[in-house]
Amino acid sequence: MLLACIADDFTGATDLANMLVRGGMRTVQTIGVPESGQQIDADAVVVSLKSRTVDAQEAIDQSLQACRWLQRAGAKQFFFKYCSTFDSTPKGNIGPVAEALMHMLGASFAVACPAFPENGRSIYRGHLFVGDVLLNESGMENHPLTPMRDANLVRVLQAQSQGAVGLAGHEHVQAGPGPLKARLQALQAQGVSLAIVDAISDKDLHTIAQACEDHILITGGSGVALGLPANFERAGLLRHKTQAASLPSIAGPALVVAGSCSKATQAQVAHWLQSRPGFRIDPLALHQGGPVVEQALAFSRAHLSQEPVLVYATSTPQEVTRVQHQIGTERAGQLVEQALADIASALVAQGVRKLICAGGETSGAIVRALGVHTLQVGPQIDPGVPWMTTQRDSVTMAIALKSGNFGTVDFFEKALNMLQQA
Ligand code: ADP
Repeated sequence: MLLACIADDFTGATDLANMLVRGGMRTVQTIGVPESGQQIDADAVVVSLKSRTVDAQEAIDQSLQACRWLQRAGAKQFFFKYCSTFDSTPKGNIGPVAEALMHMLGASFAVACPAFPENGRSIYRGHLFVGDVLLNESGMENHPLTPMRDANLVRVLQAQSQGAVGLAGHEHVQAGPGPLKARLQALQAQGVSLAIVDAISDKDLHTIAQACEDHILITGGSGVALGLPANFERAGLLRHKTQAASLPSIAGPALVVAGSCSKATQAQVAHWLQSRPGFRIDPLALHQGGPVVEQALAFSRAHLSQEPVLVYATSTPQEVTRVQHQIGTERAGQLVEQALADIASALVAQGVRKLICAGGETSGAIVRALGVHTLQVGPQIDPGVPWMTTQRDSVTMAIALKSGNFGTVDFFEKALNMLQQA
């Protein structure tokens, strides 16, 4: 294993894995820390945790456990992945986890760079911009769990770190990998242990990756991972580059499950229903104890041998609000997630081999219900969403987990066509 990654949430982990595969690294994403004796054959392993908003000590414990496993697996370099909007609170968890990992890995210095210019996240003079506005004017200042009210990342990271936080400004990045390396060494010599690094273009991300090629730990968003595969390639360590995004041909019925009510998913569901069968889950009927799951299974079984089927709870914002008023937001969410997870696992047990899930929480519930622990990351369907494969009782199945707002309107059909052509 060349690169060991620890990601603070599931979709962020997939985003990073997708980036590494595009760079030619064979990548496996694990859900939680793998079992102690488990062997994984890959250039990069991304351990996905759920540590972004938990208590700082809990986040440290989870991250160190992941780090220990990855160290034992022989990783050469470590990457701590967090959100490109630096989602955190004054107590953490970016600073505390980064410092705990540095301690465990014996590193006295690491960069911190959430920039992802392609997605509108750029850092200049240590300030994070989302598109044309500062982070604290981007809507992130109202986030329910991690409100970001300061765009100055040096100040934000300093508030949650023990050691000194510094800045490697854009003039050093623009000057190239050599001068940036010198700047990072100078900061370290001044006693800085974490350095925010400016980046406003993909070229900057490549420069940063190259300047950090000898660092045991790099921290950042998936953007800064853009240049990491090239480091391993220059060192002659990337041997399976052409195989990284290969997808085995997979035969068997296909199921799409949508629990997201985001705009993009609403359009994708409507598009699908113009030409394909779909069964709508009614949360109120679930609440009343109706045989909704059984009906969905009967409908799906009737169609699956001929064509792919969609099972969806996706509704308009008005409908969602009406349901939430009647039975409560949490109960509605749980009932729908449980029903969709039950339907997916019953149909997978009966032979479904291609599964697309729409919605972050929905995907989490389904993956848990299926008992999936490791996913081999394959080619990208749309930005941030790759096909992945997993082994179940020595049968390979394909899974795509889509965060609600990702993907073009024909995402479901496009994804299934990719498997036909594999
Ligand atoms: P996204 O990625 O778009 O945020 P998620 O799956 O993370 O999607 O979240 C959607 C949430 O909404 C889930 O908890 C799901 O169970 C819930 N939900 C889905 N459909 C409905 C509905 N019709 N009424 C109420 N809640 C719903």
